Amino acid sequence: MKKLLAATADRAARYVTAIGDRRVAPLPDDTARLEALGGPLPSGPCDPEEVLALLDDIGSPATVATTGGRYFGFVIGGTLPAALAANWLAGAWDQNAAMQVMSPVAAKFEEIVLAWTVDLLGLPSTSGAGFVTGTTMANFSALAAARTAILKRSGWNVEEDGLFEAPPIRVVVGEEVHISLLKALSMLGLGRSRVITVPADGQGRMRADALPELNEQTVVCIQAGNVNTGAFDPAKEICSRARDAGAWVHVDGAFGLWGAVSPLYAPLLEGVNAADSWAIDCHKWLNVPYDSGIAVVRESEHLRNAMALSAAYLIPSKGREPWHYTPDASRRARGIELWAAMRSLGRSGLREMIERNCRQARLFADRLRAAGFAVLNDIVLNQVLVSFGSPEETRRVIAGIQSEGTCWCGGTQWHGHTAMRVSVSGWATTDEDVERSVAAIVKIAQAVKADQQSPK
Ligand SMILES: *Cc1c(COP(=O)(O)O)cnc(C)c1O
Repeated sequence: MKKLLAATADRAARYVTAIGDRRVAPLPDDTARLEALGGPLPSGPCDPEEVLALLDDIGSPATVATTGGRYFGFVIGGTLPAALAANWLAGAWDQNAAMQVMSPVAAKFEEIVLAWTVDLLGLPSTSGAGFVTGTTMANFSALAAARTAILKRSGWNVEEDGLFEAPPIRVVVGEEVHISLLKALSMLGLGRSRVITVPADGQGRMRADALPELNEQTVVCIQAGNVNTGAFDPAKEICSRARDAGAWVHVDGAFGLWGAVSPLYAPLLEGVNAADSWAIDCHKWLNVPYDSGIAVVRESEHLRNAMALSAAYLIPSKGREPWHYTPDASRRARGIELWAAMRSLGRSGLREMIERNCRQARLFADRLRAAGFAVLNDIVLNQVLVSFGSPEETRRVIAGIQSEGTCWCGGTQWHGHTAMRVSVSGWATTDEDVERSVAAIVKIAQAVKADQQSPK
């Protein structure tokens, strides 16, 4: 065992320390070699060291270097050193985070991390929370709590009696709602298409002046951090109108809520803490390993009512029983890595990381603008949208960047434009990474332009 784990540490260290020197996306040949890992399952056992060697020799080259400094696709983030180390130790511990009695240490870390998170983000200190796989499940869990609470007001117990014949719930979303929130609604029986959609402004912010009438049967889903532009819905105005009407406000704050740790970006989030629930991703901007997200609910009993296994399981226990707050029963102990990430950064380290990534997003925008390309959004946070000309040109530039390998950026559609999206959300990204990436992007874009203009 000791030899195996030491060999693993060696291989992992080699992978992580060399990540800045390799291409970001694997070559087609590297992914093709993965075939060698399949075939019929061997009839007999294999030495663990040999298993590890196969995994590293064939698997590592086929990975996407998302945890390196030059991956800017989607909104991803890497893994902080302390979080990675904690993840290994947590693997060795193999704790089941379902119940206190199964793992007091896992339960304790969740309590500590919840207290730190609400403090960092300025959320109500008495909130309850479930530690889930990501924002999709955080949205699902928090909206389940909203569903429970809203129906309870009408005397309806959705956990016992289901949704058939229940009083209707009105769900309001912005035009720029993330598709995963719609999926959460679909899984909750609230329907993707039954929503009332509020138009957004040019940056993708929900227009508070276009809100429909709200009432006690309404849940309003707002966004802190638009996945394309990074923009924030006007929480203060929406929450205050919702409060007057007795409506529930849920915040999809996947990455944007982390902006609250910096006095530079906190003003964008003004009023967000007046909502009723929040979904937060940790595998994105907090830079912990996959998978990790938190569903925070102001009045924890609603989350508990929605998530407790059944009345029979509600054996009174001292303190917080983790599994009463999540869709899962058995579950890995995500709190360990979250604790390690927060403990290693401290308040100032977290703030520095967020501010650095936002500054690097502005650097990207400045450099690309200076090279003559159009930046389509106001750079308010860590997201940059760039157009390289026609949709076809932009698509060719994106494909060129992805295959060239210096960095990785993806494509998106923004208000009728085909755009490249740059998300700066990795702890490892240095200014030099940004400059190197910009140089590669500009070179590829100029080659595409030249090719487009040359007579065929
Ligand atoms: C990423 C993201 C989600 C989905 O989060 P997962 O962790 O992938 O489930 C939801 N909403 C927003 C705004 C996001 O950026």
